[in-house]
Amino acid sequence: MDDTFDYRAGPQSGGREPAPGELGLVQAFVNSHYDLEHEHGSELLHSPSALGAWLEARGLLERGRAAKLSRSDLRRALDIREGLRSMLAANNGAAWDEQAVGKLNRAAGARPAVLIQFHRDGPSLELYERDIDGAFALLLGIVARAQLDGRWTRFKACPGDDCGWAFYDYSRNQASAWCSMSVCGSRSKARAYRRRNRRRGS
Ligand SMILES: [Zn+2]
Repeated sequence: MDDTFDYRAGPQSGGREPAPGELGLVQAFVNSHYDLEHEHGSELLHSPSALGAWLEARGLLERGRAAKLSRSDLRRALDIREGLRSMLAANNGAAWDEQAVGKLNRAAGARPAVLIQFHRDGPSLELYERDIDGAFALLLGIVARAQLDGRWTRFKACPGDDCGWAFYDYSRNQASAWCSMSVCGSRSKARAYRRRNRRRGS
């Protein structure tokens, strides 16, 4: 794939290793609901121009196009993001969310936006244009490749309350459930402990 794209996933909850290679870009996109770096916990994609700036900074959108994005482009981006999060939750044991994935599939686009090209080390996805359809197609192309080569099942969404952080499970038995054991994991343990105590009538 084109080296001009920025695949870095950014800082991770619980100090986890980011998702490998190009999947880091998908991780950064899914985790744009929660700003871990600057304004703690705020939504990064809060307006069409904020979405444009995010895509532009990663090389997915040609300079000058960010200002032309509409409310409906933002809606599509959020449908794609939350559809992906539901798929990551399914990788972590949640039920497959037909409705969320349906929204994602409808938001993906109505015209071809990537071209598949073959090389000695496998296929690459080339954008026809660095517009919003191209940006979505590139992200979803990375997801499709990860599903095919087996990396996808290790990519999970944290089930913690108001969390949903996308993390990559490098553990040998692939049994990590929380973005961070010390944050979401211990919170959930504390809740289960309180529930048990309440049941005991204390
Ligand atoms: Zn979490």
